Amino acid sequence: MEQAKKAKPEQRITPHFTEGELACRCCGRLLVQSELVHKLETLRQLVKKPVLVNSGYRCPAHNRAVGGAVNSYHLKGMAADIHVPGLAVVELSRLAEQAGFNGIGTYPKQSFLHVDVRGNRARWQESF
Ligand SMILES: [Zn+2]
Repeated sequence: MEQAKKAKPEQRITPHFTEGELACRCCGRLLVQSELVHKLETLRQLVKKPVLVNSGYRCPAHNRAVGGAVNSYHLKGMAADIHVPGLAVVELSRLAEQAGFNGIGTYPKQSFLHVDVRGNRARWQESF
């Protein structure tokens, strides 16, 4: 796997996303697949409001600390947990469908949407 590099926080990857926004929250390192940021940018254009990234790349230590899955797509720079203030998570998931994400996990109670660019289609929702 490609190695994570120290992010330049202000460096833009696309018009609406910086390296800092997608970097690991614990160490500031970044690994990101271009398909992920391109689809995030497509989603941003559909939403027409800022898309805030709760969690993008996670280094292995941070992934363990937050209880992420061992094979989480966050470890590969292929996933982001996002939210849009003022937009329901279910509505955001509808737009993520249009943006072409393969993996979409809807967490309305925790107010975030997981999106990823895995090779197969996957949909899930937090249990109530
Ligand atoms: Zn880290």
